[in-house]
Amino acid sequence: MPGPPPLPYPPRLTAVTRPFYEALAEGRLRTTRCRPCGHLTFPPKGVCPRCWAEKVDFEDIAPTGVLRSFTEVWAAPSPFAAQAPYLLGIVDLDAGVRCAARIVGRFEEHTCDERVELSPQPATPFPLFAFRHAGHA
Ligand SMILES: [Zn+2]
Repeated sequence: MPGPPPLPYPPRLTAVTRPFYEALAEGRLRTTRCRPCGHLTFPPKGVCPRCWAEKVDFEDIAPTGVLRSFTEVWAAPSPFAAQAPYLLGIVDLDAGVRCAARIVGRFEEHTCDERVELSPQPATPFPLFAFRHAGHA
């Protein structure tokens, strides 16, 4: 049986991105918090965008949030053309940061302001960053 499909646009792994993807592979959401000022950022950053400190710590955050907006992509960039149509959304995570991510399911199944939860989609070398309805079985 074939394994998960390759990610069409695989991540560039660095000291800042690798902890995020390794956590994602385990179904967790991990990002960085500035040690001096406490500012939480997403995606993880090696430098705090608020105080420019370079001392950041990784921490797991709740993998849940609210879907604020979403769209269905039909005219996809070439690496993703084979996957179209697919959904992209803006999620306000409960931890207080906003992110853009793939949304699992069909357009008609979603509404703005619905609760969503992390749902990494199987792929290699790492899962696709995605969310689905919260409370999904
Ligand atoms: Zn800071």
